[in-house]
Amino acid sequence: MGRDDTESARVLYHTYMKLRIAASLKLVCLLAPGLAAAEWLDRVEDGIMGTRIHVELWADDPAKGQAAIEAVLDEMRRVDESMSTYKSTSEVSMVNARAAQGPVKISAELFDLLNTALDYSRVTDGAFDITYASVGYLYNFRKHIHPNEKEIEAALPGVNYRHVVLDPKEHTVRFTQPGVRIDLGGIGKGHSVDRGIALLQGRGIAHALVTAGGDSRIIGDRFGKPWVVGIRHPDRKDEVIARIPLEDAAISTSGDYERYFDEDGVRYHHIIDPGTGHSASKVRSATIIGPTATRTDGLSKTAFVLGPERALEIYNRLDDIDAILVTPDGRVLYSKGLEAPSKK
Ligand code: ADP
Ligand code: MG
Repeated sequence: MGRDDTESARVLYHTYMKLRIAASLKLVCLLAPGLAAAEWLDRVEDGIMGTRIHVELWADDPAKGQAAIEAVLDEMRRVDESMSTYKSTSEVSMVNARAAQGPVKISAELFDLLNTALDYSRVTDGAFDITYASVGYLYNFRKHIHPNEKEIEAALPGVNYRHVVLDPKEHTVRFTQPGVRIDLGGIGKGHSVDRGIALLQGRGIAHALVTAGGDSRIIGDRFGKPWVVGIRHPDRKDEVIARIPLEDAAISTSGDYERYFDEDGVRYHHIIDPGTGHSASKVRSATIIGPTATRTDGLSKTAFVLGPERALEIYNRLDDIDAILVTPDGRVLYSKGLEAPSKK
């Protein structure tokens, strides 16, 4: 996030609020002891979905605002329980264990998300593919483990989103062959952010930001101004390459610097090319701006696999999407809906 800009806005705002509260304090105390002032609330929580969650919101009643933040965090824990492949009891793990044997009945939420995921596979010419996990499970970036060519070759036939068959009447999913695994790591955080925002809207909150790792969604403005979201430099984490003003929008950034290790000059990182089973390295980072975080999350992997030119063709075809890509040689490319900032 654009810390500098948001920090100065925050300081200004708090000074303003303090003055206002001081001016009215006597009156409030006399007239309505215990009456709470509206407040800007901000919470950072680590460890849900293996990432950092950030919720900011404007609440007329601070107690209700805090309760809303708790509800968002609970919702994210719930999504994690149901969709993580790290949890053997999750619904997705159950699908992975059984769907090659026959149709598995699943929740409406998972069914809809799988449907959306398959749609993104079609839109991105297969670059986004939740069955990447058929080979992806052989990597462990924390432990610096990667499969060798033979292992990749053996696992690769399991990678193809067409192996995942949904039955809308029965609400089931099945895999057409053994060796298929799915993983929603490329769309689940966006989904959880959208669930969090829906929950806040249901509680009457009109100004908020919800972030899970690289996926964010914003409703309303921030003290009458757009939110400013910074995109970091792929190698220098404190350097911002672009600042994007946003209101009522979602934004996702994928980068090869998020979960990776380098070995013999090769970067092994967490975005996998479904065609080769290797890390996809045609861009260093991709930022997508769009209406929902599910959509921006699902589309942010494409450029890594297809490369900037083909990916921009796709992004430019989608009316509700904009993109900012950083290439391996350090160029910053924009989709046609975004003006490149003028160079001084
Ligand atoms: P984050 O996990 O921080 O949200 P990304 O949005 O960039 O990061 O998603 C990366 C994740 O997407 C990987 O950890 C993996 O779970 C999943 N993934 C990797 N390659 C693909 C792919 N080709 N299609 C769909 N999902 C993928
Ligand atoms: Mg993501």
